[in-house]
Amino acid sequence: MTMTNDITDEIKLLSKTDKVICIKKNVPVRSFHGKVWRTMKTNKKYLARDFEHRCCYCDDLDEYNGKYESYAVDHFAPKSKFKDLEFDYDNLLYCCRMCNSSKSDKWVGVTAKENIVDNKGFIDPCMPEYYANLARKTNGEIIFLTELGKYMYYELKLYAKQHQTNYQINRLSEIKRRIDTLLKHSKLSLNEIKKLKRIRNEICDKILGYLGL
Ligand SMILES: [Zn+2]
Repeated sequence: MTMTNDITDEIKLLSKTDKVICIKKNVPVRSFHGKVWRTMKTNKKYLARDFEHRCCYCDDLDEYNGKYESYAVDHFAPKSKFKDLEFDYDNLLYCCRMCNSSKSDKWVGVTAKENIVDNKGFIDPCMPEYYANLARKTNGEIIFLTELGKYMYYELKLYAKQHQTNYQINRLSEIKRRIDTLLKHSKLSLNEIKKLKRIRNEICDKILGYLGL
């Protein structure tokens, strides 16, 4: 059955290390420019939507990483150095705790516009250039593609296992939802139903394993 084969192939990709894909499915787009809301609560609400509830740097989905409440608003150009940008929406990013604390107030330039100096620094993940420097394998592991990517990789601790685990849980959950839809809405033979249910059980076991349950 083609559908079962497709699903099996997708699961196989999750253990492959020889295929490289983009860190994110979609490059995030800020819905507002030149906006200044004076509360982080408001900024965070809009940022979560713009970033599809995913960390701007590592792409971890908040649902599997402490949820919305544990995510932070990252200041691309740090607020400790550029106080006037503290509430500037164009300078803000939706960010997981690990990336936020790893980035901290690191900034290589003198001005807020000077984000890269001598192949060191950070690129705003709303810019397509971010994805020319960092990528991921289909097993979820994040990799760097350039010297600048290497700088971001180590400074943001993108090597941390949690990013790969988050990716795996996310992908497995998506595949499980697809199987549930197929089982509910498609006309399948008993043999196909049996196969899909077996795969579904294996996925659930894997997810529970990742969650340490
Ligand atoms: Zn992150």
